[in-house]
Amino acid sequence: MSVRENPEVLVIGAGPVGLFAAIVLAKRGVRVQVVDRDWRTGAHSYALALHGHSLQLLDELGLAETILERAYRVDKVGLYDASHRRAEMRLAELDGPFPLVAVLPQDQLERILEETLQGLGVRIRWNHEISQLEQDDKEVTATIHRLEKQSAGYAVAHTEWVIAKTEQIRTPFVIGADGHRSSVRRSLGLGFDEIQPPTHFAVFEFHTDADLGGEMRISMGETATHALWPLPDGFCRWSFQLADFNLPASTRKKDRLTIQQVGGAEFPVVAEQRLRELVKKNAHWFQGSIDAIQWQIAVRFEHHLAERFGKGRLWLAGDAGHTTGPVGMQSMNVGFREARELGEALAAVLRGKGSVATLESYGRSRSKEWRFLLGADGGLKATAQTDPWIAKRADRLVPCIPASRDGFARLAGQLALEPMLLGGQET
Ligand SMILES: Cc1cc2nc3c(=O)[nH]c(=O)nc-3n(C[C@H](O)[C@H](O)[C@H](O)COP(=O)(O)OP(=O)(O)OC[C@H]3O[C@@H](n4cnc5c(N)ncnc54)[C@H](O)[C@@H]3O)c2cc1C
Repeated sequence: MSVRENPEVLVIGAGPVGLFAAIVLAKRGVRVQVVDRDWRTGAHSYALALHGHSLQLLDELGLAETILERAYRVDKVGLYDASHRRAEMRLAELDGPFPLVAVLPQDQLERILEETLQGLGVRIRWNHEISQLEQDDKEVTATIHRLEKQSAGYAVAHTEWVIAKTEQIRTPFVIGADGHRSSVRRSLGLGFDEIQPPTHFAVFEFHTDADLGGEMRISMGETATHALWPLPDGFCRWSFQLADFNLPASTRKKDRLTIQQVGGAEFPVVAEQRLRELVKKNAHWFQGSIDAIQWQIAVRFEHHLAERFGKGRLWLAGDAGHTTGPVGMQSMNVGFREARELGEALAAVLRGKGSVATLESYGRSRSKEWRFLLGADGGLKATAQTDPWIAKRADRLVPCIPASRDGFARLAGQLALEPMLLGGQET
């Protein structure tokens, strides 16, 4: 086992949130290292929308222009039932320099972030998996396995990942941005409480001749919520919530290769015929063509919250701390704010401008915001002006609004809904 003394901050996980955190730190002159157990960035669109506030944070890193050049701009959210348009939220009326949502597939965003990090002299150490973390009051010792592919098997040849080398890194701080099955969270012994039961969605991306006119659409039935996101180059994504469908907890995994998901008879839940039936049942108003399906998948979304966001020298950001439903793209976007906040706080502590104890306030603010977003504490309150159709769906709208904090409150306000925390405090 080799021992090396290394970075000031070790970021575990090179998903969008870990990459973002590493850029924030590197730009502040902090020596940062990023490890990821996989071999490259993700290969699909996953969380495909950047909230206005995320664009502002990306602009601080000099990236908003590049992103907006490639993205589809959404400036309103239409709310529909199966037959009619019922209401809208106008992103264009939000404050700030980016009153819009930018639609850019997550794989493209991750590549932009990786290139930016490389430009700052930080190379991601792919195929490096955290196996153990121990902290004392001075530092964290991380045991990391370097993984290598090895061919195996006689009757059917296959490759498997094996441990090629084990090393230890000593570092003052660790950011656990290692996704919903976070090893960092587990090493801290923190629970990941289920706040709401899981939901399942059938997701289809295809080319269409529909003119979606800069609008993201949410179709709300009596109990299920479906979303239509326009994508660049004439594509769109439909995500239909499935009522009577269950996937086991282990199925949600990021692919690293762009391969067509298997559809058709084998997986009828995501067959083209099923897509046509779902559109007919839940969105009569969608008259666009369905051509060239490029991605079809059934996904389970859990609604979990970490018991705390860290302790001492180990802190969580992104899906490692929270998971939610897909419609409003909140997990990754709020994750960027977490990455920025945590990056700045760690940089301050490392430069002697704060103590480790100040990081506790990061943890408290994260728990408070996520308890609200996950519906554990408060919700959206209808007022005398709220349309009854909206009022009936107020709580289901919380994870669907593509914004957080002030932007969230402004968009909810356009529907005459008020965000409330239990105890009467506003979010
Ligand atoms: C199929 C699918 C569909 C999705 N659809 C949507 C959607 O419609 N809307 C939406 O908002 N979100 C969606 N998401 C979720 C979205 O992708 C996440 O919210 C986002 O990726 C979170 O980013 P993150 O950086 O926090 O974590 P991740 O992107 O999960 O990155 C975590 C990284 O940590 C690495 N890692 C894990 N364990 C270790 C370890 N022990 N050692 C080293 N590295 C480790 C992983 O390899 C991974 O690269 C979807 C996800 C999937 C998989």
